[in-house]
Amino acid sequence: MNCRHCRASLEHVFLDLGFAPPSNAYLSDADLKKPESYYPLKLFVCAHCWLVQTEDYASADELFSNDYAYFSSVSTSWLTHAKRYVEMITPRLGLGKESFVIEVASNDGYLLKNFVASNIPCLGIEPTASTAAAAEKIGVPTLSEFFGVALAQRLVGEGRQADLIIGNNVYAHVPDINDFTFALKVALKPGGTLTLEFPHLMRLIEHTQFDTVYHEHFSYLSLNTVSHIFAKAGLRVWDIDELPTHGGSLRIYGCHIEDARPSTPAVSAMLAEEKRNGLQKVSTYLAFQPRADKVKNDLVAFLVDQKRSGKKVAAYGAAAKGNTLLNYAGIKSDLLPYVCDAAASKQGKYMPGSHIPILAPEALIERCPDIVLILPWNIAEEVVAQLKSLENSNAEFFVAVPQLKVVG
Ligand SMILES: [Zn+2]
Repeated sequence: MNCRHCRASLEHVFLDLGFAPPSNAYLSDADLKKPESYYPLKLFVCAHCWLVQTEDYASADELFSNDYAYFSSVSTSWLTHAKRYVEMITPRLGLGKESFVIEVASNDGYLLKNFVASNIPCLGIEPTASTAAAAEKIGVPTLSEFFGVALAQRLVGEGRQADLIIGNNVYAHVPDINDFTFALKVALKPGGTLTLEFPHLMRLIEHTQFDTVYHEHFSYLSLNTVSHIFAKAGLRVWDIDELPTHGGSLRIYGCHIEDARPSTPAVSAMLAEEKRNGLQKVSTYLAFQPRADKVKNDLVAFLVDQKRSGKKVAAYGAAAKGNTLLNYAGIKSDLLPYVCDAAASKQGKYMPGSHIPILAPEALIERCPDIVLILPWNIAEEVVAQLKSLENSNAEFFVAVPQLKVVG
């Protein structure tokens, strides 16, 4: 296999998690009677451009099916994050009624609704039909299509280049990162700005976040690698923010390569920090798998101990990262009988692969578990605060990543 960005041949495995079903393929009762599709879940690192990437396997169509259940507006902290971003970027770029904003992967309009409220013209691009329909319903103009060069050229033809293009948690999820980046170049007005947010590979390595690996997450990105991908498409990173989201993300600010804007010192500082952390050395990547294995082994041993001592265990948060962890660790309902989740769209279904049933959070009141394992560790504090108000038991809350520990 060759690198999706620079076409160099890929020789170094960064992480091998065996085989797993798509992490968002939640199962119904009827699905449990059918065979389930598993794909290899293996990451390579390119020793030429340092793009960490999934092994090639299945088409994007299968993974992003129309019943894909995630609606961004379910998460109040994400809504707050989006609102703050709009309040920051609007004055920074001087956006107004004459401007045009595009968000790629605009989901249910969770972010663009803030521009609509300020009368700033905008357009969402969202291939998932159900979330695109939800956005239209709240007055956010949305195209239900995949973003790529063809669509970008169509927008140019309609005179709709953007002053601002936003991509939150989509850049790492596109199969063809070169085409996507070139599409950003085409759709961006001269003098325009684009911002992309993605989990930062440096933090993934630092905090052993191997459970953020899943098939739909094609690329694992450093600023250094993104700078190369941008340069090839005629774009340039001129500023960055570090964000706490998803265990440590980067928000990068891009412009056309010929734009006169100077780059901020934050860009060169981060490039230097990545280099200091070994992100341009193969040995850094080869040292990662044993650390992932330790997290897995510690969790399995912990759950076996709880079972032997007669403790009642539950999990909270039927998130994609939970599926990666449970499937890699081979944990099934004998060790973890159920997972609670606030999203009604997941309740009554089963986790892919492990087939652990998903229940409403009220099950924690009825069943009074001794131990609650929080799978989405990135929102553990928020979840513990909610659950402590929900139930009056003495349950202990744990996360498994970056190491098994008590939270709250
Ligand atoms: Zn490469």
